[in-house]
Amino acid sequence: MEDNWHNRKKGILVRPGRPAGIVLAFLSLLGCFIQAQQKKPSCKVAIDIGHTEKAQGATSAHGVGEFVFNRDMAHILVDKLVQDASTDAFILDGTGKSLKERVTPTNLKNADLLVSIHHDSVQPQYLSKWVYNGAEHSYSDQFNGYSLFISRANPHPDQSLTLATDIGSHLLQAGFTRSLHHAENIPGENRPLIDAKLGIYQYDDLIILKLPPIPAVLLECGVIVNRQEESELSDPNYMKKMAAAVAAGIEDACGSFASSPPRITPSAMRNSSD
Ligand SMILES: [Zn+2]
Repeated sequence: MEDNWHNRKKGILVRPGRPAGIVLAFLSLLGCFIQAQQKKPSCKVAIDIGHTEKAQGATSAHGVGEFVFNRDMAHILVDKLVQDASTDAFILDGTGKSLKERVTPTNLKNADLLVSIHHDSVQPQYLSKWVYNGAEHSYSDQFNGYSLFISRANPHPDQSLTLATDIGSHLLQAGFTRSLHHAENIPGENRPLIDAKLGIYQYDDLIILKLPPIPAVLLECGVIVNRQEESELSDPNYMKKMAAAVAAGIEDACGSFASSPPRITPSAMRNSSD
C-alpha cells in the first residue's frame, strides 16, 4: 500500500485524516479572517457631485452643462474606490440641498474625508464664440489642465493639504497637467497658489471646503470650455485613467490618516457650524 507522500508526489488527491482536516479547516478560516482584515476599508470617502441638475454650473464649449461631467466622473471615481476595497466611498446626496445642507453630519454619514468633483471654465474676457451643431457656444482654447483647492478655514487644513498633495502627485505621475490660470492677477481669479507644481490653490471661503468637519478638497478635473480638453474629458478611457489617479491619491491619504486620524477640536466644531 502506498502512503500519502507517494500519492502527493504522483499528483493523486489525498483526503487527510480527521485531525489534519480540522487543522486545515482552521487554517482556511484563519486565512479568510486575515484577508477580511486586510480588505477592511481604511476610511470612508464622500464624493460630492458639484452643482445640481437644475443649476449645472459652467457650460462646455459644445454646450453641455458642467453637472453632467461632474456626475459621470464622480460615479466612475466611487466605483473605482469601492472596487479597490481599501476605502469605502459614496456619492454625497446633493438633491434639493443647499451647499450647507450637503455637509451636515447626517448627510456626511460619518465620512472621513470629502472630495468635490467639478469641471472648470475661464473668465469671460477669454471666451470667444463659435457655432457647433447650428448653435452658438462660448469657448477658450487658451487654458487646460486640472486644479485642486483647499480651504484653510476647514477644521483640518493640514490633512486637506495632504489629501490634495496625494491626489495632485498621482495626477501628475499619470501624465495629467495642472492649470495655473486661477493664480492670474485678474478679477475673479488671483487665488493663492500653495503648490504650483501640483496645481494646489487656497480658497478659504468655499462652503463645500470650509464647512465639513473632515478634510476636504475640490478638484476641477479640467477645462470644459477648451474644445480639445472637453473631448478628452468626455472619453470613457480618459475618465477612467483620471479616476484611477484620483483614487490612488485618496487611498494614499486614507493610509496616512489611518495611522493618525484627523480629530475635530471643539473650536473647529464651533467654527464649522457658523
Ligand atoms: Zn463647478
